[in-house]
Amino acid sequence: MHIISSPGAMQKRSQSWRRQGIRIGFVPTMGYLHAGHLSLVREARRRTGKKGKVVLSIYVNPTQFAPTEDLAKYPRDLNRDLQLCREAGVDTVFTPGDAEMYPGGRPQGPAHKDARPTGFSTYVVEEKLSQNMEGAARPTHFRGVTTVVAKLFNLVRPDVAVFGQKDFQQAAVIKRMVADLNFPIKIVIAPTLRERDGLAMSSRNKYLDAEQRAQAVILFHALQAVCAAVKKKSVSAARLKADLKEFFTAAPQARLDYVEFFDPGTLEPVTQVRSGTQMALAVFVGKTRLIDNAPL
Ligand code: AMP
Repeated sequence: MHIISSPGAMQKRSQSWRRQGIRIGFVPTMGYLHAGHLSLVREARRRTGKKGKVVLSIYVNPTQFAPTEDLAKYPRDLNRDLQLCREAGVDTVFTPGDAEMYPGGRPQGPAHKDARPTGFSTYVVEEKLSQNMEGAARPTHFRGVTTVVAKLFNLVRPDVAVFGQKDFQQAAVIKRMVADLNFPIKIVIAPTLRERDGLAMSSRNKYLDAEQRAQAVILFHALQAVCAAVKKKSVSAARLKADLKEFFTAAPQARLDYVEFFDPGTLEPVTQVRSGTQMALAVFVGKTRLIDNAPL
């Protein structure tokens, strides 16, 4: 397995593969890998074949974090990640640093908006699918995501890139960016891997203490409860939201940030929720913000 940290070296390697007609599969991550990430690696391998190459990137991208968020304490363990990548059969791990990705210094300051780093001043902004839910709760988040993913696509030059359904809105925004900007890349969305009790795997689960971990499963239980409620008949979104407020009082450590019911194609909220509607929610458990979603 190769480990590359220089963007130039990554680009050269993928150019050389491409000249040889080798297919490239790509899994972008922020590291602190878990089984969910590794399932994306398997999907990338399936899509590229034995002769293909699978690249996994590990980069905690500062431009997708607001100044009040957990950038500094985001969990990192590169040696463990590299071992997991070796075992999973990753061909190349791309681990750039901030100085390589944002030359001249990474953006800082209020919401990063007006503090452009010298040496970096171009952002990619999706304007429709990124407005509600995560986009409303974290106003500069998707701008950071689309910008870094566009950069990574230009460095890794993949044929196929695999993203998790766990971040449903992110996957939709990336798909739209790829279509709108004509990236010649197939975007594959892979299912969410869960812990035994149903909690979606996430690097941020590490922040939870035992009590919070026990209560965090309420995100999954909320998805299940709404699934059951709309199985036979449609229910108004307002009614479900009111019921969920009540539902969350069972977990005193959990505070609902938002819950939304929407069309999975347009991401537009619906007023009447039925089988096939997508549900997404964000919940603070203690100080840790967790998200989950499912088709109902
Ligand atoms: P992250 O490292 O959290 O930025 O995630 C990197 C990729 O892994 C994203 O495409 C996520 O959607 C995906 N991912 C995160 N958690 C899971 C999970 N539990 N199951 C499947 N994919 C996941």
